[in-house]
Amino acid sequence: MNVLQNIYDNSPVFFQHIMTSVKGYQNTKNRFGRIYYEHREFLRDFDNWTLERKCEYQRKELIKFVRYAYENSSFYHELYKDIDIYSIENIDDLKKLPIVDKEMLRSSIEDVYTVNKKDALEGHTGGTTGKSLVVLMTREDMMKRMATLDHFKSKVGFENLKMRRATFNGKHIVPQNQRCKIFWRYNAACKQMIFSSFHITEENMKYYVDELNKFKPQALDGFFTSMCDIAGYIERHNIKLSFKPVAIFPTSETLTAEGRARLERVFDCKVYDQYASSEGAPFVVECQNQVLHIDLSTGVFEKFNADSNEVLVTSFTTHGTPLIRYRIGDSMIFADTEEVCNCGNNQPIVKKIEGRKLDFLYNAEGAKINSGNVSNLFKNIPNAIIRAQLVQDRMDEVTILLEIDKKIYKKEYDMLLLNEFEHKFGKNTRAIIKHVDEIPRAKSGKFQMIRNNIEVK
Ligand SMILES: [Zn+2]
Repeated sequence: MNVLQNIYDNSPVFFQHIMTSVKGYQNTKNRFGRIYYEHREFLRDFDNWTLERKCEYQRKELIKFVRYAYENSSFYHELYKDIDIYSIENIDDLKKLPIVDKEMLRSSIEDVYTVNKKDALEGHTGGTTGKSLVVLMTREDMMKRMATLDHFKSKVGFENLKMRRATFNGKHIVPQNQRCKIFWRYNAACKQMIFSSFHITEENMKYYVDELNKFKPQALDGFFTSMCDIAGYIERHNIKLSFKPVAIFPTSETLTAEGRARLERVFDCKVYDQYASSEGAPFVVECQNQVLHIDLSTGVFEKFNADSNEVLVTSFTTHGTPLIRYRIGDSMIFADTEEVCNCGNNQPIVKKIEGRKLDFLYNAEGAKINSGNVSNLFKNIPNAIIRAQLVQDRMDEVTILLEIDKKIYKKEYDMLLLNEFEHKFGKNTRAIIKHVDEIPRAKSGKFQMIRNNIEVK
């Protein structure tokens, strides 16, 4: 991967477009194969089922999945050794099983896996505590997840692969030493223009908007913060857009009402939210009425306890790294069961998703590096970081506090991390790594991955 990144970084921009597309076509094979199309078909059918039939499907999938984990994952086999796993017959029975948290997964991750690395796709997650976790995903599950996502988009008018989309994500598509103002690369495999989320400064935004006007995307997706910044610029400068997208699909961050309204005003289309983490959580997606519905075909959400809104997830598309009663760290407020939506979707309604905070740090040039990108700093350091916190007191410097697993952590990981930091923050922002025994908590007791002490502009 590093060799490829090196070649990429030292190639001319036109060749980087080609490499982006080649990578896109490779990914396509893993994401849009036969199972993807079969599952899209299934989901279209599933939409028309009665709620009872959907719940029965969910119950059967749950039984199958719990048995699968018990029989194939040595972690779950050990965890459930005193439980009669064959007595788990409905959603309520889940309570017989212990809760699994991030630290349990991280410290025994090799035992959790049910597949070999070489047969699986890797998902890297930093998560909101900066804990690095590598999840292995089967190709079949990956395709089902892509199908679920594209089915959701298709219901509000966007057909992935057939329509043009502009994506704002955390991919390193712009090399450090690039001089020209081209902050995007084209992935022809998905008709997708990928825009860098690391270079959105006041000075550069003009180029982003010009390119959007040229590309005329039919949907925008990716980081909410990045899209809101661009929308703010367009509004402030009264720029006329030459396109009108079908929809906007933010990922990874909690939406604010203000940001959402701004996006809808500026791009003259609706924003549809979704919930599905990189660890492989079940899906919650918005319908055409912008109401969040749980997708019962993808898993089970439970309340962690009566006093909080924290949820536990059991996800049917995590065969490689099973998640059962997993304390993912996000919170949701569920609507009363009587509440129905007139969109035609009879599945349970979620009033609100909390958790993925809109935190960010600055780089020396003033670009916002959002929490999604910050947590990805740790993704190449497999399973060795217990907790990380980034503290910023001045624009050109960030202190990284690390609580590490001393058995796994290697000295060279510091270099890896600094390298990754430079990629995301650029050469002019300095990082200082400090290894500590314990990272102090906020007064509320809650852990914060990001502490930005610079007054927010
Ligand atoms: Zn609805």
